[in-house]
Amino acid sequence: MIISMRLHATRDEVDAVCVRIREFGYKVHSIEGAQRVVIGAVGVGDVTACLESLEAMPGVEKAVRISAPYKFVSREFRPSKTEIMVRGVTFGGGEFVVMAGPCSVENERQIMESAEAVARAGARFLRGGAFKPRTSPYDFQGLEMEGLKLLDQARRATGLGIITEVMSDRDVDLVAEYADILQIGARNMQNFALLKTAGKCGRPVLLKRGMSSTVKELLMSAEYIVAHGNPQVMLCERGIRTFETVTRNTCDIAAIAALHELTHLPVILDPSHATGKRSLVPALSRAAVAIGADGLLVEVHPAPEKAISDGAQSLDPSQFREMMRDLEPYIELWKRSRPKTTAAAAAE
Ligand code: PEP
Ligand code: MN
Repeated sequence: MIISMRLHATRDEVDAVCVRIREFGYKVHSIEGAQRVVIGAVGVGDVTACLESLEAMPGVEKAVRISAPYKFVSREFRPSKTEIMVRGVTFGGGEFVVMAGPCSVENERQIMESAEAVARAGARFLRGGAFKPRTSPYDFQGLEMEGLKLLDQARRATGLGIITEVMSDRDVDLVAEYADILQIGARNMQNFALLKTAGKCGRPVLLKRGMSSTVKELLMSAEYIVAHGNPQVMLCERGIRTFETVTRNTCDIAAIAALHELTHLPVILDPSHATGKRSLVPALSRAAVAIGADGLLVEVHPAPEKAISDGAQSLDPSQFREMMRDLEPYIELWKRSRPKTTAAAAAE
């Protein structure tokens, strides 16, 4: 933190500020100019409380934080990328991982057909919500327990890993029993009770960016999960709210590159929620590969016109197959431009 004192602040005011900084557990380094004193505070502590307290003190003009408010998820803390291995598949390493499936688990036939179709096309994980966050309380809320059992059945039939959403801290243990990756949705990005509980569970978590959240807030939410004991977190850009109405959300594609600079955690793009339109999904998926995302989360439904949720943005199996085929040359380039991972380097 840097604390800039007012012009001609008194000696007593400067001394009182230094005492308060030390009370918060920081070391004081002050620079005394002819007219103004600037104080640096260095160390670990409750920065927010300290800043608020200092700003209220006589003689203080401004108190600002200079280091990032997140630590464990930052690149400075861990310069090499985090690799998350799930069922033999590594996120954040040398593989571009595709997770695909319907928005919601609807019934046995729908999820089994989806699983077989996405597995044949090269996806490594099956997505599908059993607990659905819906804007209207009258919309389909998900099959819950029955949905989890159907996902398990699809995993056993195809060998795909399962990613599914958990909406409440009360359901973390239950969903973790069935899922290989827990999804925390956009609407729950700042559900701090859920983030803390996800921090205590042993499953990897895919954390989606809230639709009105900044990249910094996304990183702070990831920090919650890591600080509570779970380092296996990946981030997902899924579009944000803007004034634009042509697409359901506005895909902040630059956030993916920015996140790679700011954090070591794997970054995934969801091109389905980012656009809301199936025709735009292949183009955005190419963009995700080009910008260096670690994978995709894509909605695919055996009959999108009959989907209970998000049919308009779901690809059908043949569209998904075609997209996966068209992505191949881009993924080849992605692999060549990828920094060597520790696992790949060790194998050589
Ligand atoms: C979903 O993945 O189906 C979903 C509800 O996503 P989001 O939380 O990004 O809206
Ligand atoms: Mn959806």
